[in-house]
This record gives sequence, C-alpha cells and structure tokens, in this order.
Amino acid sequence: MVTPTVGVLALQGAFAAHAAILESLGVATVEVRTADQLAPVEGLVIPGGESTTMSMLLERSGMLEPLRQRLADGLPAFGTCAGLILLAAEIRDGRDDQHALGMIDLTVARNGYGRQIDSFESDLDVAGLDTPFHAVFIRAPRVERAGDEVEVLASVDGDPVLCRQGAVLVAGFHPELSDDDRIHKLWLADAGL
Ligand code: GLN
Repeated sequence: MVTPTVGVLALQGAFAAHAAILESLGVATVEVRTADQLAPVEGLVIPGGESTTMSMLLERSGMLEPLRQRLADGLPAFGTCAGLILLAAEIRDGRDDQHALGMIDLTVARNGYGRQIDSFESDLDVAGLDTPFHAVFIRAPRVERAGDEVEVLASVDGDPVLCRQGAVLVAGFHPELSDDDRIHKLWLADAGL
C-alpha cells in the first residue's frame, strides 16, 4: 500500500505538532507553503494560529484560489482553532478582508469566549470515542450556528466544538496538544487516509 501524504499548512501557527502526530500514525506529511506543495497532497491540516494572518498569507502566497479549488474538488481537511475559522462559512468579529473558505456550514465568532476566559480546558465526550478527550482551548472560536449538514461530535455548554461535514473535520480546540491521537485518527478514517 502506498502511504498517503497529508499536507500541513505551514504559513503560520501550530503546524509542527500536527505533523509529529500524523507521522507517528504512519502518515507521510509535507509542510505546505506554496501552491506547488499543495498540489499533490491527499489531505490537508489547517492548524491553530491566527486566522487573520493565515488568511492574508494564503492570499500573498497565491495559494488561496488553488486551495479553494482543491477543497471544492473534495480534498479532505482538518481545521483546528484558527483552521476551524478559515474553513467556516461565516466569520464574525474577523477582519473585513478575512477569507472564509466555506467548507463547513458554521457561523463562528472569532475569540468568541472573550478575554477573561480566553484559554480553558475541558474533558469532552466525543461521539465515537469510548473515553473523554482532554481538550485545550486557546483564544478559541465559538460556534454560534451549525447548519443541517453539520454533524456535531462534541460540545461544551451546548456550543459545538468538534464538527464534521463529509471529510471536513473542525475542532475549536487544539487536539495536537493533548498527547492523544484519537481525533487525528478519526479524521484520517473519515478521509479514507
Ligand atoms: N483567535 C485566533 C484566530 O482568530 C485563533 C486562536 C488559535 O488558533 N489558538 O485565528
């Protein structure tokens, strides 16, 4: 069997830890900073970081349109935190020029948990996992609306924090920081990788 290659968008943010988890699961990874590097990947992780900066760098690197095209053609994607924001249909409290890739039908408020509780941890009950997943939230987006096509796999106080639409999985938290590879495995299985 040929090992699949998963790209980790590496323009900015927390990409290295994602690559390490995927490699430990036997998946080859490549850091993606250009359209040429994007072209051959069979899945893409969009990490946490700063979604406004990532959006700007996507535009400057000439990757925005190729990425939109690959996603429209069915490229499996896994977005965490800022990656969730970028993949969402609608962003509130973003920058006016920030791009929403629109691959999952969510309305998301950037930094929606506010300054006072800008970081927190929570043991999540995740659909399909036997035991809770310890999740770390850092200036996390708050999902305000999930469309009918969206499966909510975990919530905190009634707000979705792990959502799936087809082979697009998004987490409002940082699953790469918990020393637990189950969310990555879930996505790889969904993506057929
Ligand atoms: N608040 C950040 C943003 O707007 C996301 C934070 C994160 O990825 N940890 O992109």
